Amino acid sequence: MSKIEPVVIKIAETKLDMAGVEQLMERYNATEWYTRVKPIQQNDTEFLIEVSGRMCYKSYGVGLNPNVTKIREDSRDYVTNVLAKGDGSILEHATVTFAFLNVSRVCSHEIVRHRAGTAISQESLRYVRPRDVSFWIPPDLQKVSSEFEEAVQVITNQYRELESKFDWDKMSFEEKKRVTSALRRILPDGMATNMVWTANHRTLRWVIEMRTDPSAEVEIRQVFGQVAEILIRDYPLLYGDFSKKALPDGTFQYTPKYSKV
Ligand SMILES: Cc1cc2nc3c(=O)[nH]c(=O)nc-3n(C[C@H](O)[C@H](O)[C@H](O)COP(=O)(O)OP(=O)(O)OC[C@H]3O[C@@H](n4cnc5c(N)ncnc54)[C@H](O)[C@@H]3O)c2cc1C
Repeated sequence: MSKIEPVVIKIAETKLDMAGVEQLMERYNATEWYTRVKPIQQNDTEFLIEVSGRMCYKSYGVGLNPNVTKIREDSRDYVTNVLAKGDGSILEHATVTFAFLNVSRVCSHEIVRHRAGTAISQESLRYVRPRDVSFWIPPDLQKVSSEFEEAVQVITNQYRELESKFDWDKMSFEEKKRVTSALRRILPDGMATNMVWTANHRTLRWVIEMRTDPSAEVEIRQVFGQVAEILIRDYPLLYGDFSKKALPDGTFQYTPKYSKV
C-alpha cells in the first residue's frame, strides 16, 4: 500500500478572444468603456463576466441605453454588486478546470453529486487494472494507522490472488476490460483515484461553501480548501467576499458574504 495526499492542480481556465471582444465593443459603441477598463482589468474571466453582465442593460456607458443615467465605473464595484444582488448567472460564462489527484473514491462520489455546471472525467477501474492500491489515511484513523494498513494489505493480497487466476496475456482487450471491471468490486472505496473536474464560477462558489463546511467530510474539505485558495488568489473580484476560518482538525472553512448567487 502507498500512502498519498489529495492534490489539487489548476490546469485550465477561460481565456478571452481579444479580436472578438474588440469587434463586439465596436458594434456596441462601447469602445470608450473598453479602452478605459481593459488596461486595468487584466483578468480574462472577470472581464468576460463584466462584459456579459453589462450587455444585459447596455451599461458600458451612460446614454447607450436611454434608461441608464449612471453606471458603476469600477470593476470591483460592478462584480460586488452582481454578487450582492444574486445575479449569478453571468458567472456561468467562465470555467476553471482542475486535476484532483490521489482523491479517494469516497471523495469522488461526493464530488459528482454536484451536477449543475460541471464536467467530470475520472480514471476508469473498468479499463485500468491497478498496479498499486494507494490510500490516504484520514486523521481520525491515525492512531490505528498500522491496523488500517494491514486491512488494506489483506484486501490487496486477495485482489492479487483473484487477479492471478486469469491468464491476462492470452485475453483480448475486451475480455481484460470485463474481468477488470468485475474484479474492482472488491477494491475499497478509500482507494485513490484521479479525476479532471471543470466547473463554472457560479458552481465553484457554491461547492466551496458546501464542501468546506465543518459538517462535510474531511477529505473533500481538504480538496475544496485547496480549490478555494487557488480561486481567491487568481480571481480577487469573484472570490473577494470569502472569509477563511481555521477548524480544529487543521482544515479551513471558506464562507462567502453572498451565498448561492
Ligand atoms: C455535508 C453534506 C452531507 C451530505 N450528506 C448526504 C447524504 O447523507 N446522502 C445523500 O444522498 N447526499 C448527501 N449529500 C449530498 C447532497 O444531498 C447534494 O446531493 C450535494 O450536496 C449536491 O448539491 P446540490 O443539491 O446543491 O446540487 P448541485 O448540482 O451542486 O446544484 C447546485 C444548485 O443548482 C440547483 N439545481 C441543481 N440541479 C437541479 C435540479 N435538477 N432541479 C432544480 N434545481 C437544481 C439547486 O439549487 C442546487 O442547490 C451531502 C452533502 C453535504 C454537503
